[in-house]
Amino acid sequence: MLRIGIGNDTHRLVAARPLILGGVTVPSDFGSEGHSDGDALTHAITDAILGALCEGDIGVHFPDNEQLWKDADSMQLLARVVWLAKERGYEINNVDATVMLERPRLRDHIDAMREKLAQTMNADVAAISVKAKTGEGLGAVGRGDAVIAYAVVLLQASHSK
Ligand SMILES: [Zn+2]
Repeated sequence: MLRIGIGNDTHRLVAARPLILGGVTVPSDFGSEGHSDGDALTHAITDAILGALCEGDIGVHFPDNEQLWKDADSMQLLARVVWLAKERGYEINNVDATVMLERPRLRDHIDAMREKLAQTMNADVAAISVKAKTGEGLGAVGRGDAVIAYAVVLLQASHSK
């Protein structure tokens, strides 16, 4: 049995904040504004898993007005949602994600993100795809004002259940 989910996430880019994507800190003069660590890629994947489970969205499970989630490590939120999927009898089949960011270029960091995400999701790294695109100078991404991530996740019934 299969279930598919879609997720996306946008964060404003500001000075003096770390740029964290897929749990990897990317050297940059600016980073994501946000209540948590602002990891747009991990938030998009987390939302996609919740979507596949028909379990609402990340804001329902981790409200951003709760002090508990201030500067939260988004990988921990992702791990909790993967655990929720497991409770429902599902595991990750595969993930495909795209990060839209004008600069810096992410190519050299993509494999580290895939490794980290795979570890957190108990998945094979070969099942976790992360792609990077720029905004071609257009819109909020192109102006360097925002980072946007999109993700699609396919869940399959766990072998163990
Ligand atoms: Zn977010």
